[in-house]
Amino acid sequence: MLEQKRTEPGRCILCGAEATSFGSRTVAAGWLCGECTGKMSPWFRCRQDITEAELRAHLAYREENRGRLSGFRPTVRVWRGPTLYLDDARRQFAVSDALVKEFPTENPDILDYRQILQCDTEIEEHRTELKRFSPGLGRISYRPKRYEYRFNIWVRILVEHPFFHEMRFCLNRRPLIVRGYDVEASVKGKVVKNRDYQSCVSAAAEMRDVLLKARDAAIPDEAGPFP
Ligand SMILES: [Zn+2]
Repeated sequence: MLEQKRTEPGRCILCGAEATSFGSRTVAAGWLCGECTGKMSPWFRCRQDITEAELRAHLAYREENRGRLSGFRPTVRVWRGPTLYLDDARRQFAVSDALVKEFPTENPDILDYRQILQCDTEIEEHRTELKRFSPGLGRISYRPKRYEYRFNIWVRILVEHPFFHEMRFCLNRRPLIVRGYDVEASVKGKVVKNRDYQSCVSAAAEMRDVLLKARDAAIPDEAGPFP
């Protein structure tokens, strides 16, 4: 059944172009070219068993979204790359990685405040023991043990949307690294003093705050069904 629907190998099932460019991939229904996958929302999960009809519906929605961009005028911006944009007049928001004020090439999804369900922040922590080299013994532990901590600060927005349910993004572009002895107070002291860590954590809290306020201020049925 699926085999019959396949186009020739290497041809995109949506546009027919050769699927050789960067970002090309396959799903059960066949090939997708890089240009078509590039049009998809970054929050959209392209499942292996996705149908051609679902893909076409998603790309049609993305074109419609591009049309909404011109009317989107951010009045509030939180953080920079990724940035949370809010348009308080239209009661809409977007999250974009673009480092420019407008969106000349990008097509960030524009959502209504009433589509916000929840917003959480998460501090992801990885700990690796640092070792030293000792002749004859090889790599051995320091005494007391020393560790490298890597932090990632995440924001997760749960939304009611026909094509995705979650917008999850990391505020730091590179892991935030703190090195210290394995004495809790020692590491915590360094973390508290780490300015990058602190600014990411406070930006995450601010995003959560503005999004939940926006959600609570939105009137559920003010503009009919979701797009
Ligand atoms: Zn294509």
